[in-house]
Amino acid sequence: MLAINTTDTVREGSIFGQITTMDHEQLVICHDEATGLKALIGIHNTVLGPALGGTRMWPYATEEEAIKDVLRLSRGMTFKNSLAGLHLGGGKAVIIGDPRLKSEAFLRRFGRFVESLGGRYVTAEDVNMKTSDMEYMALETRHVTGLPKSKGGAGDPSPVTAFGVYMGMKAAAKKAFGSDSLQGKKIGVQGVGQVGKYLINYLVKEGAEILITDIFEDKLKEVAAATGATVVDSNLLYDMPMDIYAPCALGATINDQTIDRLTCKVIAGGANNQLENEAKHGKILMEKGIIYAPDFLINAGGVINVGAEYYGEYQEETVFAQTEKIYDTCLSILNASEQQNIPAQQAAIEAAKARIEAIGRLKLPF
Ligand code: NAD
Repeated sequence: MLAINTTDTVREGSIFGQITTMDHEQLVICHDEATGLKALIGIHNTVLGPALGGTRMWPYATEEEAIKDVLRLSRGMTFKNSLAGLHLGGGKAVIIGDPRLKSEAFLRRFGRFVESLGGRYVTAEDVNMKTSDMEYMALETRHVTGLPKSKGGAGDPSPVTAFGVYMGMKAAAKKAFGSDSLQGKKIGVQGVGQVGKYLINYLVKEGAEILITDIFEDKLKEVAAATGATVVDSNLLYDMPMDIYAPCALGATINDQTIDRLTCKVIAGGANNQLENEAKHGKILMEKGIIYAPDFLINAGGVINVGAEYYGEYQEETVFAQTEKIYDTCLSILNASEQQNIPAQQAAIEAAKARIEAIGRLKLPF
């Protein structure tokens, strides 16, 4: 008989150790030899409703990296969905591999795994996944959202995400500068992908001065030509004098190597998991007097969009109105952070948990 070492269940770094520390409900390992599919589905918390969060495809160098990512991202979704006032729990999936592996059979096989969870997990697009990929998954599961408009879905959620980031950035500017106007503010946007591009449009309309970086020259040229933004070398952005840093590429860009180089007064961007170590780097930002708008709070526009689609109640106007509320939520979290002298990230997590606990208690009388 296989022996299980019970001390392993809480050993730091072991799978059960990580799940225990981060408080996950479930981690699902999916494998299909025929299509080469290797995926992980993390279900963090379903108190508020089914766990909704996108599927990311990435060529992770190790299994450990993929596990860490799915656990961190699904936990972030719990807090994001809670603070956005959604009736949804937190989950996320990662598919391990080169995005070129995607095929109809591959995506439909993944859809079947999602269906096997009976609605505990609802998927959508994330990095390296498109609305057209969701269409294939939808052939095998009802628990998918973020479908193209041509298929009755709400389409690409990025414009709504960008609007929410803009709202959060304005709230953080109000806290830092006493006014939420971004006119004349120097803003460094890292990553001019879907979210970055739409965000820049709002910033340009307000008369901000924009610095942009990306790893793709062609994208930079296109955005610079369309908006008048100044292109900056990717590695130098952290050292540039700027008022606001907007990370809109990948996560963990606020880390031991970058944090001392930042001289901005505000950090507000769309990327998930911006703080490499949330406790340590959140505290350092507070000590440096940098106002940090927590990522999971201000990039919730996308999940508000796909959530409305999943529940069959999508109306663009309502979705934008709900996303606009990010301004007020962000301001109240930043005020709580100041009053309690705790990092904004911690204040946001505590507010998200408080809602989950309050709703969780409602269920006890049954
Ligand atoms: P995207 O892939 O369209 O854009 C990301 C951009 O960042 C790309 O242009 C890429 O070339 C660039 N990039 C990658 N590494 C970089 C680096 N080191 N320096 C500068 N640029 C770099 O993705 P997106 O949909 O715009 O999402 C951006 C971020 O926002 C991701 O972290 C994503 O998880 C998060 N997010 C997106 C949404 C959404 O609705 N799209 C919702 C919530 C969160």
